Amino acid sequence: MARHRRQLIRGERQVVDRLVRDYRVVESAISLRLAEVAREIEAARSAGVPVGAKWLARRERYRQLLSDVETQVGRYARSSGRLVLARRRETSALGIEHGRELVKALGIRRSLAGVPSRAFEAMVSQFEDGSPVLGLFDGMASDAIAAARRAFLDGIALGKNPRDVARSLAPLPGLVSSAVRRSARDRAVLIARDGAMRAYTSAQSALYAENADVVLRSVVVSALDGRTCYLCVGQHGRVVEHGESIHRHPGCRCALRPIVAGMPETVSSGEEWLRSQAEAVQLAKLGRSRFALFRAGLPLRAMYEEVDHPKWGPGLRALPLSRLPSRVSPSG
Ligand SMILES: [Zn+2]
Ligand SMILES: [Zn+2]
Repeated sequence: MARHRRQLIRGERQVVDRLVRDYRVVESAISLRLAEVAREIEAARSAGVPVGAKWLARRERYRQLLSDVETQVGRYARSSGRLVLARRRETSALGIEHGRELVKALGIRRSLAGVPSRAFEAMVSQFEDGSPVLGLFDGMASDAIAAARRAFLDGIALGKNPRDVARSLAPLPGLVSSAVRRSARDRAVLIARDGAMRAYTSAQSALYAENADVVLRSVVVSALDGRTCYLCVGQHGRVVEHGESIHRHPGCRCALRPIVAGMPETVSSGEEWLRSQAEAVQLAKLGRSRFALFRAGLPLRAMYEEVDHPKWGPGLRALPLSRLPSRVSPSG
């Protein structure tokens, strides 16, 4: 399964690289406009014109800036949306391919039934129309405009004399870009990651359910390495019945290993794995407070909760320390 994970990560990296590269184009176009507006403000200030929000709103260059933000980010949002959906189709196919390999690796010689193409299409498109993906991309352009406007007006409000204004405007292109970046680029990346992995495990589930005579159920497996978070460690080894949805946090890379007929269903839990690790490993994974509770016997699964998000579906959420017991009484 390490090879499967590497394959998934490689594909994901390509999509993320593309999202970031496309975003740079947006960013540099906007930076040019920003510099123009900044120069205009500086010139007005040194000519003694009082510069305020109203004055700014009348400037053609400023309006051009906002409209460019909308056009550029809007275009970015649409092309990212297409890219993300294509990636979902790809990971759905990978989920089926990897699922087949896993069943075969368990010694099943019989050829497996495929996921009927209509079911596959339904699975891929369940992420399309009216899905949170495109909805999130929709709001991206308007959020970016709001971020640009806010950053600009804040900069204006900070300026007391032309020199201060110049100084406060100088870093503005960067300021606006980073505000826009947070609201646009990072969101695109997260959507791409999360959706692709959900599509991947949905496809694995569908394949296993199609072959219910051989695959009895499946089990959540995580990498159990230095980068696996404690929620995923807690989920590792959890048995999933056909048709049951799996709870995961955004960006989770857990997969579903099949359990086939005639084989012992022994999958040790992530909890057991973490308890067998050195204290330093446990501490790194949990942080000081949770580590202390874990050592006192609090199981990982008591440190997070399952939530059913109306848009994103079944998810996992870490419980804040305030909701964890302050001390754990030793059991048995
Ligand atoms: Zn995780
Ligand atoms: Zn996970």
